Amino acid sequence: METIFQQIIDKKADAKILFENKRVIAFYDINPKAPGHFLVVPKVYSRNFKTIKEKDMLYLIKIARKLALKEIKKLNVDGFRLIVNNEASAKQVVFHTHVHIIPSEKGM
Ligand code: AMP
Repeated sequence: METIFQQIIDKKADAKILFENKRVIAFYDINPKAPGHFLVVPKVYSRNFKTIKEKDMLYLIKIARKLALKEIKKLNVDGFRLIVNNEASAKQVVFHTHVHIIPSEKGM
């Protein structure tokens, strides 16, 4: 069955998109752990970091870092967490590879 992220990629579901190109899409998490929490998702399907192609993983991380730096500047905070959950045992809920970027909260 199609995941919600595939539906967002295909524009069948709405999301607050902050970046998109041919290979990746980034949108704000619907249930943010901190202000500015967003997800970066490769458009080519893979389940998680166990099976993603290395070149797609490297590109994903490169874009995630770039967007994270931009977002923390915008929020005026100095740090962020970069998290990837792989499999249900590691709290993965949506089974389409994604990177979480969670900016630090102000004053933390
Ligand atoms: P994970 O536990 O790594 O699989 O995280 C999945 C994330 O996707 C969670 O943080 C959810 O809040 C987020 N999420 C689920 N559905 C949507 C949606 N429609 N738009 C944005 N984020 C979503």
